[in-house]
Amino acid sequence: MSGRVMAHYRRIVIKIGSALLVDGKTGLKRAWLDRLSDDIAALKRDGVEVLVVSSGAIALGRTVLKVPAGALKLEEAQAAAAVGQIGLAGAWTESLKAHDIVAGQILLTLQNTEERRQYLNARATLRQLLKVGAVPIINENDTIATSEIRYGDNDRLAARVATMIGADLLVLLSDIDGLYTAPPHLDPNARFLAEIPAITPEIEAMAGGAASELSRGGMRTKVEAGKIATGSGCAMIIASGKIDHPLRAIAEGARHSIFHASSTPVSARKTWIAGQLLPAGTIHIDDGAAAALKRGNSLLAAGVTGVDGHFSRGDTVAIVNQQGGEIARGLSGYDSDEARMIAGQKSTGIEAILGYPARAAMVHRDDLVMSVQKREGSAHA
Ligand code: GLU
Repeated sequence: MSGRVMAHYRRIVIKIGSALLVDGKTGLKRAWLDRLSDDIAALKRDGVEVLVVSSGAIALGRTVLKVPAGALKLEEAQAAAAVGQIGLAGAWTESLKAHDIVAGQILLTLQNTEERRQYLNARATLRQLLKVGAVPIINENDTIATSEIRYGDNDRLAARVATMIGADLLVLLSDIDGLYTAPPHLDPNARFLAEIPAITPEIEAMAGGAASELSRGGMRTKVEAGKIATGSGCAMIIASGKIDHPLRAIAEGARHSIFHASSTPVSARKTWIAGQLLPAGTIHIDDGAAAALKRGNSLLAAGVTGVDGHFSRGDTVAIVNQQGGEIARGLSGYDSDEARMIAGQKSTGIEAILGYPARAAMVHRDDLVMSVQKREGSAHA
C-alpha cells in the first residue's frame, strides 16, 4: 500500500459486509474480492498483520439455494449459512493464494468469546495463525448459534476479535462511508464526521436506536463496535467498500470516519491484569526465569519452582521470585494441577507428562505485567 496511513498500525482487523461480497443474483463478487486481497497482500508486505471478519455466508447460501427475497426463519438462515460458508471460505482461500498467502477459517459464537477458556483457546489459535503468516478468515458460526449465544451482527464480533487479539485498528467496510450526525438519506442537513475522539452520548444518539436500524449491522452496531474497540485501545475506521481497492483508497485519503482509541492495546490488557484484586494463585520462579521476565520474555515451565493455590487456565496468578517478592502478574496458561505437574520441566518433556502437546509458555508475555518495584525507603504515594 502506498500510503502510510495504515502501515503504521501493526495488527488490523478488517470487517467486510455481506453486500460488498455477495450479489443476490450473480453470487460472490470475486473480482472485488481479488482487489481487496491485493490490498491485504500490500499491507502484509509492509509488515502489518491482518485478520478478516467476513460476512456473506447467509447471503451467498441464499443465492446457491435460490431462496427468494424476504426474511428468513432462524433455521433457514442457518441452512443458508451452512451452504454459503463453504463457498465464502473457498473464495478467500483462492483469492489470497494468488499472493501466496494462506487463509485459515475460524467460526465463533458469542459464547466462545465470553467464556474465558474458549476465549483463550480461540486467541491461541488466532495468534498461531498470525505467527505462521496466515490470514484468519473469521465469521460467526451461524449454523449453530441460536439467539442467546449469537452476536447476530459481525460489527460487534469484529470488535471482540480486535480486542481479543490486541489489534490496534479495526476497519469496518460496508456501503456507508462513515458516521453522519443523522442518516444522510433522510436528513439533508446531515453532517459527516471525520474524527470521533470519544464516543459520547451525543455520538450514540446520532447512530439511532434500534427502531431506525434498517438492517443488522446498521450504524448502531457500528458505534457499539466502536465502544468495544476504542475502550480496549483499538482505533476504528468506518469506510465505504463499494469501490475496488477499498483499503488502498483509505490510505490515499478516501473519505472515512476514524474513532480514536482511548488507550493503547497493551496497556488496556495489562491494566486489566494488574488490576485484578485477588490473584487466584502464586507461581514461584527461579532467578533465571526472573531475569528472563525482566527482559520481556514469557514465563516457561522450566523456571517454575513451585505453585500455590487452586486456579484455572486464564486466571490471574502472582509471580514470586526466590526472595518471596511479587515481581509480576499474569494469566496462567495452565490450571494449577497441570502447572504443578510440569513445574521445572523443559518444554520438550511436557507433552509426555500431560499427554497432549504443550503450550509455548506457562504465562505468555502478552499476558504478563511486571510489578512496580518498591524501593526501600521510598515515600508512600
Ligand atoms: N454472519 C452473517 C453471515 O455471514 C453476517 C452477519 C452480519 O452481516 O453482520 O451471513
